[in-house]
Amino acid sequence: MPDSGMAHVALLPSAEMSHLLPILRIGASLLHQNFQVTLITVHPTVSDAESKIIARFLSAYPQVSEKKLHLLESDADSTASTDPFLLRWHAIRNSAHHLLSPLLTSMSPPVSALIYDVSLISPIIPVVTQLSIPGYVFFLSSARMFSFFVSFSTTPSWKELMASGGQSPEQVEIPSLPPLSVSLIPPAFINPKHPFGAIVHEDSPNIVKTNGILINSFENLEPDTLHALSNGTVVSGLPPVHAIGPLVPIFEFEKTESSSTNAPIIKWLDDQPPESVVFISFGSRTPMTREQIREIGDGLVKCGQRYLWVIKVKSVDRDEEDDLDKVLGKELVQRLGEKGLGLVVKDFVDQNEILAHDSTGGFLSHCGWNSVVEAVWHGVPVLAWPQGGDQLINAEVVETAGIGLWERSWRMPVSGQLIADKINEMMECKSLRARALKLREDARKGVGETTLKQLVNE
Ligand code: UDP
Repeated sequence: MPDSGMAHVALLPSAEMSHLLPILRIGASLLHQNFQVTLITVHPTVSDAESKIIARFLSAYPQVSEKKLHLLESDADSTASTDPFLLRWHAIRNSAHHLLSPLLTSMSPPVSALIYDVSLISPIIPVVTQLSIPGYVFFLSSARMFSFFVSFSTTPSWKELMASGGQSPEQVEIPSLPPLSVSLIPPAFINPKHPFGAIVHEDSPNIVKTNGILINSFENLEPDTLHALSNGTVVSGLPPVHAIGPLVPIFEFEKTESSSTNAPIIKWLDDQPPESVVFISFGSRTPMTREQIREIGDGLVKCGQRYLWVIKVKSVDRDEEDDLDKVLGKELVQRLGEKGLGLVVKDFVDQNEILAHDSTGGFLSHCGWNSVVEAVWHGVPVLAWPQGGDQLINAEVVETAGIGLWERSWRMPVSGQLIADKINEMMECKSLRARALKLREDARKGVGETTLKQLVNE
């Protein structure tokens, strides 16, 4: 049970590994600083990966109180979407007013602050306001992405863009920051009728009503953007923006023995020369078309580098799927096998264990923000291949920070030869590696943790 003398922080994550993992890392960081933590878990979970990581967290930290939020049938959303994670965000939003208030008031000692997921802003504000609990939004993408999110409702060029149905202007102004190219913004974000756009439209103007924003970034990764956000020039009246990153796997709940999936991978990596392997993974929920998967395979045969390739063919791990031979096709399996330079897996791997390995020399990534921050933490150069969502804006951050390459001209399907050329360029570029190692040093100064501690103490 929590000790009644310490600040008591409640955490409310949303569905999706990339939303859950970093908020659990905030929880672990708070626990290490002796704060009391209650984790609100939403049931049922969407994926097995989420259930497992919650169980690992609660077993590593028995002092954490768990409060279960059981969604009701009636919380399901009629939103026209087939994305199970997006549907779940809407269901949690629908339930906040009737399910969350009783949970928060039942916590003892009383909650000092609620840290909640970025997908839940507007429904949470009235709940925490009524209960007089300070509410902090956890924005789990880049600060650059946040500058878009927050200026969306206030900047005239956005209004112009929406009025034109996304046609013009070609770039939009963000006060005191470089303009943002519209080509980096997925059309769904600016479409109020899209289930994702609807959230952005409703929540962006309400961000000023929150007590503060926590971002998984740090000074040396996004210096200009973080300065502009803190000095009030991006949006007037913006609550304090706290750069609490990098949120990385330094805590017990992620430090397990190599899992049955990872053990053979690590054994294989142990036998490879230092910095010789390109790691290919597109996050926890971005499946690729069969055609594109086969082009990547062709690229791996052509580039001649060692590789570790995690294939995703479905967005939720509970769904049925084909085996690897069927996905890749016989001929490609044979070509990859003849070269014998790599491993191909389709399970959920422990990405951090792989990025931390000395043999890993590069990361072909979709640039989900957690993957970017983890690559920075481990000093691994990135070949950015954003697939949608916030990933294009994050890819630009990777490029600007000098730790990765991004070929903007790529359009799906990208040919094996283009992929091979770019992988070779990344693996052979010494300056990328040097910059990634420098940023790794900066990341390890622990400033984000101090920022979080100061914030909660205040
Ligand atoms: N992840 C992992 N193993 C996998 C796939 C993903 O450990 O096989 C982790 C990864 O380390 C990261 C998160 O899941 O922490 C994915 O988040 P990210 O923001 O990179 O991408 P998303 O899954 O949202 O596309």
